[in-house]
Amino acid sequence: MKNQYQYDVLIIGGGAAGLTAALRLANRTKIALLAKVSLTEGATLYAQGGVSAVMDKNDSLESHISDTMRTGAGLCDEQAVRFTIEHAKQSIEWLIQEGVSFTKETRPNGHETFHLTREGGHSFRRVLHAADSTGHAVSTTLEQQARANTNIELYENHIVVDLIRVADSDQSSPRCVGAYVLDRDRQKVVVFRAKFILLATGGASKVYLYTSNPDVSTGDGIAMAWRAGCRVANMEFIQFHPTCLYHPKAKSFLISEAVRGEGGKLLLPDKTPFMHKFDARGELAPRDIVARAIDHEMKRLGAAHVLLDISYKPAAFIKNHFPGIYRRCMEFGCDITKTPIPVVPAAHYTCGGVITNRQGQSDLPGLYIIGETAFTGLHGANRMASNSLLECLVFAFSASQDIITKLDDAKMPPPLPHWDDSRVTDSDEEVVVSHNWDELRRFMWDYVGIVRTNKRLERAQRRAQLLSNEISDYYSNFRISSDLVELRNLVQVAELIIASAMARKESRGLHYTLDYPQTNKKQTPTNTILTPTDVRPPVVIES
Ligand SMILES: Cc1cc2nc3c(=O)[nH]c(=O)nc-3n(C[C@H](O)[C@H](O)[C@H](O)COP(=O)(O)OP(=O)(O)OC[C@H]3O[C@@H](n4cnc5c(N)ncnc54)[C@H](O)[C@@H]3O)c2cc1C
Repeated sequence: MKNQYQYDVLIIGGGAAGLTAALRLANRTKIALLAKVSLTEGATLYAQGGVSAVMDKNDSLESHISDTMRTGAGLCDEQAVRFTIEHAKQSIEWLIQEGVSFTKETRPNGHETFHLTREGGHSFRRVLHAADSTGHAVSTTLEQQARANTNIELYENHIVVDLIRVADSDQSSPRCVGAYVLDRDRQKVVVFRAKFILLATGGASKVYLYTSNPDVSTGDGIAMAWRAGCRVANMEFIQFHPTCLYHPKAKSFLISEAVRGEGGKLLLPDKTPFMHKFDARGELAPRDIVARAIDHEMKRLGAAHVLLDISYKPAAFIKNHFPGIYRRCMEFGCDITKTPIPVVPAAHYTCGGVITNRQGQSDLPGLYIIGETAFTGLHGANRMASNSLLECLVFAFSASQDIITKLDDAKMPPPLPHWDDSRVTDSDEEVVVSHNWDELRRFMWDYVGIVRTNKRLERAQRRAQLLSNEISDYYSNFRISSDLVELRNLVQVAELIIASAMARKESRGLHYTLDYPQTNKKQTPTNTILTPTDVRPPVVIES
């Protein structure tokens, strides 16, 4: 069995971002793609709503751009927004070419065209979708293509622990050339080295107790890139999805925004509508406004949930548009064609991330970051619905294109030092890990959730510091496990979210604090940028 692997490009993550980059690069070279569990288990698989792109002749790029900028509450980078939206159609066409089958409709004039749905913040119907399981269609189609491609070698059940940086003995600036990876089946840490590393590990919503995200969304890429010396930005902007199914046995099941797009009404438990009190756009207001309104009403009434009602629409329409949601709710005894759905908000999307440029390059040469892990400037202080899958595709294209132009001139790194576990022993107290997981996610929900205050953030910071010390102690003394790797990353990400939230002395977009409830309109809005200070020295190699 090998302990050291070598490829031109190492991709970490099998979601929309990682798989797209893999398929684009595989035309040109051999690559390895790592996923910490099965290949497609990630947020992409569960995306319901769709992918936004201007497809209707009455719609325009300018409208998509201005909607995105407005939702981003003053913090979108206009160049990044333009870049993404101008490349949307090309990405959709590529997905179709790869075999993704988007839902179509027949117009009264007999023409068949893509059915476009409308979601919060969008002025037009511009969301392409595959019924209500778009992510499943994208994931499984790209998975099939990747499995069939002989230039892509897949390593499932491989969790990356940390990135490896080297510096030449005569050169001071380090570059990223590989990663230490725990092969979960063999319980052994192996080394992957490559000319280029592409991180596409998704978001960090698992840092919260309630989340719409799958278990893999533990912010690994953000934490690893931070430890490797990359700056992160805007980590305070966590999007809470307003409507997750409320049922003790329904683990993180999302009720898509498209339900509200198609006329779903939010109601209090006594069936009184309430969204009109909070925003003139009612149910179609951006997610942060809807999530805060629900949070407010739940806290005011001491209610465990509110209701989302689409049952007044014809049953055939509901079953046709929302087959996945209909089936899943039925499993929990809720017939959505007859009764309203009990819903609660949950952490959904990490708007901030590792700072990258238009080609997905991070601060660290050799390291590219794409998808939810990256901060490209597209989302600003709030992500507009269905712009994130789009971002995965567009930046996977640009990053792989950039890597392709550099492949021939890049040198393969020499063999790297093996993982040293000679000083650690098997853990005698796994409970430390499970206890700290629970504690962290609970206080992040209570103190760093939808509504924040200075006091809550200070409390959270003290607790995070304590956990961080305890975990780094544990990490230095005991053999690693995937739970420990994830917990270490979650605590790191929690500290970044708290520090960013403390730095923002205003409410803007997704960050809402009772101590500064207004948006600061006097100054030009700025991003919250954090720079790592105590980065471990790189491995020095003879040049
Ligand atoms: C329920 C739900 C619905 C959504 N609906 C929509 C929608 O309709 N439209 C839209 O645009 N967006 C939607 N989003 C957001 C969107 O799905 C995500 O932003 C996007 O899919 C992220 O893709 P990604 O490739 O960056 O990461 P993911 O799809 O999350 O993939 C991450 C990959 O990285 C791997 N990984 C992570 N850490 C490690 C590690 N340490 N080592 C090895 N591998 C690792 C995982 O195993 C996984 O393969 C939704 C999200 C959720 C959760």
